[in-house]
Amino acid sequence: MATATALARPRTHGIVLDLIRAARTISRVELVEASGLTGATITNVVRELLDDGLIEEAGRAESTGGKPRTLLRLRARARFTVGVQLDRCSCTIVIIDLAGQLVARTAMGGAGLRSPRETLIAVADHLDGLMATADVQRSLVLGIGLVSQGPQDLTSGRLLTGNPMGAWHGYPLLDELEAITGLPVLLDNDATAAAIGEFWIGGVEPASTYGCIYMASGIGGGVVSRGGVYRGGTSNSVEIGHVSLDIDGETCECGNRGCLEHYAGPEAVIAGAERVPGLSRRLGLTHGDTDTLVNFTRIARAAMAGDPEPLRLLHASARYVAHAAIGLASLFDLDAVVLAGQSFASAGSIYAEAMQTQLDRTGFARDVHPVQVLLSKSGADAAAIGGAVLVLRSELTPRDLRRPDGQSLRYTEPHPVRDLPITA
Ligand SMILES: [Zn+2]
Repeated sequence: MATATALARPRTHGIVLDLIRAARTISRVELVEASGLTGATITNVVRELLDDGLIEEAGRAESTGGKPRTLLRLRARARFTVGVQLDRCSCTIVIIDLAGQLVARTAMGGAGLRSPRETLIAVADHLDGLMATADVQRSLVLGIGLVSQGPQDLTSGRLLTGNPMGAWHGYPLLDELEAITGLPVLLDNDATAAAIGEFWIGGVEPASTYGCIYMASGIGGGVVSRGGVYRGGTSNSVEIGHVSLDIDGETCECGNRGCLEHYAGPEAVIAGAERVPGLSRRLGLTHGDTDTLVNFTRIARAAMAGDPEPLRLLHASARYVAHAAIGLASLFDLDAVVLAGQSFASAGSIYAEAMQTQLDRTGFARDVHPVQVLLSKSGADAAAIGGAVLVLRSELTPRDLRRPDGQSLRYTEPHPVRDLPITA
């Protein structure tokens, strides 16, 4: 089985694969220079990768006087990884190839009020359909990156939150999805995944330090510096939605008071719309438990069309997010802030403008360098793509992700950061 081969691969294979991916085509001599490995090691590794069908020869480089060098490239469709973004309101499933290119995507309703097991079975059914449509063989799929909100225990593969609902708290998500699909699964934070996905698809300068603010039904964040994700102690980091803007504010479900999410998140915007007489009806807002994203999108579209009340509500939300972005930029000395997630996909320009203005005006390091605000290249799919990328990275640069029995992509310790330079 492909997965077993991949799991058994030593780290040098991952380094070489990653260099080939980044360069698109590269010779053995250039691999020696770029990797620091010996010529003999590169020769052996390249031969094994050719035998495994993961790479192929791609003609010869122009001669610079000596013998022409044979170029190597990835066989992009030799392996695939899957990304699943799942929360209460939405679920997006993507398949990417070995080169990190999007092969197929689909979406279904989020967890809603369904049990974890029911939801995971639905995810597996949709994934089966997607693989069939895209003609992707299961034996070539390296694994699934499941991404959702925090807090999470990455070691046991569980969410430590009652969101989407109580039954999800502590449920063995990772074990269950592995059992249902028969594929290795890793769990990670959706905002972290969106942040690293943006790096991979070339949305940011590879050498930059940037923050990703992720807004779907809630608000999360991630920070990436020169391709390495900031993880903190247990990968529950950069939770910008739960930074307090008012120490006497409302109590949040996280236990803190006056969290950003309460003033700026989609649910706050929707609550604001419902307080304006007649607006909720005029925009067709609904009151289901999983309607947050749909309702927010209706308000956002009206705002983008210039409707004054929705526009006022989004400007108020954007003002809070802009102030939070100042905090994020000051803490991490960011070069850029990327806006990702379904809610920014529908109204990102309003938020980007507010943030850029605020960062230019009051950013702490504004006299040293600007902080550029960017809209995610993959928009609503950013987190799912990031989930698939996390699996690919763990395969390409296998290091700390194995259990002692070597059978899973599960994190074995709380610092699964890979510091290899992975160029987009
Ligand atoms: Zn909170």
